[in-house]
Amino acid sequence: MTYKDPNYQKKYNLRYRSNKKYKTGKTAYDMKRLSERKIILVNLLGGKCVCCGVTEWWNLNFDHIIPVSTTKQKRLPATTYYKKLLNGSLSLENLQILCSGCNGSKGNRKKCNLDHSQ
Ligand SMILES: [Zn+2]
Ligand SMILES: [Zn+2]
Repeated sequence: MTYKDPNYQKKYNLRYRSNKKYKTGKTAYDMKRLSERKIILVNLLGGKCVCCGVTEWWNLNFDHIIPVSTTKQKRLPATTYYKKLLNGSLSLENLQILCSGCNGSKGNRKKCNLDHSQ
């Protein structure tokens, strides 16, 4: 491979860029900012799954207490969504924290059906 190859730089840039991106198309910086915002929001909402008490933020999701019609509300990218929640353009009132397990079990039903009694 020679540096005189006009395609070399292009290929290199492409590879560099693809290395910098995650599968979701987000850069490392986006991911960091996203995590920071999520951690703040998780703390604002009590810091744990309201159902089973899991506290690992990466395992937690924001769940609408009263389901919001998806046809009415446009689905925002997480970065925008978190930003709006943090700056007050969106209310936190209808949100609760559920871990992936409880959220998955809840689905479209009213509550989680997992047994957390142990
Ligand atoms: Zn849970
Ligand atoms: Zn649960």
